[in-house]
Amino acid sequence: MTIEENIKKILADVENAKLHSPNPEASVQLVAVTKTRTPEELNQVLAAGQNVLGENRVQELMDKYEAVQEGAEWHIIGHLQRNKVKYIADKVTLIHSLESLSLAEEINQRMLALGKTMDCLVQVNIADEESKFGLSKEEVIPFLEEVRTMPGLKIKGLMNIAPFFEDAEDVRPIFREMYQLFQEIKSLNLPNVEMEILSMGMSHDYRIAVEEGATMIRVGRFIFQ
Ligand SMILES: *Cc1c(COP(=O)(O)O)cnc(C)c1O
Repeated sequence: MTIEENIKKILADVENAKLHSPNPEASVQLVAVTKTRTPEELNQVLAAGQNVLGENRVQELMDKYEAVQEGAEWHIIGHLQRNKVKYIADKVTLIHSLESLSLAEEINQRMLALGKTMDCLVQVNIADEESKFGLSKEEVIPFLEEVRTMPGLKIKGLMNIAPFFEDAEDVRPIFREMYQLFQEIKSLNLPNVEMEILSMGMSHDYRIAVEEGATMIRVGRFIFQ
């Protein structure tokens, strides 16, 4: 299969999965995950009409940002260190991995200096895995209360990296819990907090994520196999 065929397959799967979603009217955005991929591969992704790209690592993002053709929109999806924010503040349109007050403060300051705002998702470690970054479910609302007053960032939703299960069906309760949290926060109508984007699902489980209400999926391996 070519990169273009794989992307078409994912988009068709998404349309089918949306029929079962609690949120069937929402559009679902595919983010093509670029880690370990070459600029040539990424140019094929762009040529296939898929222009939203997500990278884990700041250094790789910067290298690829320069190397791929124009028209790409970049997201940072991996753990972001405070001292790296300055490199990406003018390059990415969405940070998926906001998970500490100190990171929020740094993003806020950098964006104010640029006279811009940054869209951010709060990373939630809903399965409480030790190996993963992100806030616990209980920490999310108090965190939002703190960051929502920062004028340099805009909270757009939540992000989750689910545990890997051999049988992808086993992840369903985790995605369901994320969607419930997303809806709960939406219903609070907190000022300056928008719950538009729920980023969850990867190659292994994106169909299930969409069935459970994801509005953004992050897919790497499946595109390039
Ligand atoms: C690698 C990665 C993905 C994509 O995973 P695949 O299994 O390659 O689809 C999605 N999100 C994050 C945060 C990642 O690190």
